[in-house]
Amino acid sequence: MDNTSLITGGAGFIGSHLAERLIQEGHNVVVLDNLSTGHKANLNKLLSHPRFRLVVGDVTDVQCLAPLVRHADVVFHLAASVGVKLIVEKPLTSMMNNLRGTEVVLEQARRWHKRILLASTSEVYGKNPASSFAEDDDLVYGNTSKTRWSYACAKAMDEFMAIAHYRESGLPVSVVRFFNTVGARQSNQYGMVLPTFVSQALRNEPITVHGTGLQSRTFTHINDTVDATYRLAMHSDAAGEVYNIGGSTEISIIELAKLICRRLKSTSRIDLVPYEQAFTSEQGFEDMPRRVPNCDKLDHLIKFQPQFTLTDMIDSVADYYRPVRETAAAV
Ligand code: UDP
Repeated sequence: MDNTSLITGGAGFIGSHLAERLIQEGHNVVVLDNLSTGHKANLNKLLSHPRFRLVVGDVTDVQCLAPLVRHADVVFHLAASVGVKLIVEKPLTSMMNNLRGTEVVLEQARRWHKRILLASTSEVYGKNPASSFAEDDDLVYGNTSKTRWSYACAKAMDEFMAIAHYRESGLPVSVVRFFNTVGARQSNQYGMVLPTFVSQALRNEPITVHGTGLQSRTFTHINDTVDATYRLAMHSDAAGEVYNIGGSTEISIIELAKLICRRLKSTSRIDLVPYEQAFTSEQGFEDMPRRVPNCDKLDHLIKFQPQFTLTDMIDSVADYYRPVRETAAAV
């Protein structure tokens, strides 16, 4: 065993940070990414590392994928279409990426009997009104006319497939449901709120709060998310199980906007943007009023307590976007 980890979608936000952690831990790392939403630049710190390799290709290309899975000891399947804006604007591509990609990766992991960790999302809880979500809570979706739910359903199907593989063939697969995760390299192109607000605040442009802004979320720093992901993947008791990975401090989106303005000393005004204006391709967009994880199961297994505060997260994202702002100001 040469301690090799394969990360599908490793040129993305979470994948690239995970790749760095795995290299630090002494693994060989192979990233498979089609660079559709991920960027080679996210891997700049690793590209010349002797234990790192980037393969540009698609997870649905079995010819390309099979040897990579075969030679890996652990597979992290992160390749997916993510971000509410992207899902609503490109629902078909997103569904196909998320369903077909996972189907193929799970089949290859089963073929070579590899430890695999499947990235899922807090979106699977849908519009369950519970004050916090534990892994065995119900998943509650809206009608198929609301495109948003196609993402939740596709990721829920991915989870069903993973669990079926575990039950039918003993595939050592774990599912992680990432709650809102933030940090350097997270794109502001696909609607994610924190990088969007930070880049708006740095430019002193209006902050676009959707709806009333009273909807709330918790946020997790990427380093905490990666730490939990890594330790779960290395834990044999995690096989066949689903884990939430998320933060503990709940904040409304309007309060988040105000906090970001204060922290970055921004003169941005805060605009309330109706959902129908924010999501023009979706009539009657349905948002989650609240999304808070219960991470007791994760804490029980790996002693997980997030180390980074919300202000740390704002600072990390601002540090990432600041040079961009300075370049923009200079032209
Ligand atoms: N949001 C917002 N303004 C933006 C982007 C997002 O008010 O420019 C809101 C969005 O409607 C949601 C919350 O922020 O209520 C979190 O959105 P995000 O897409 O980051 O993640 P979600 O938790 O919805 O998957």
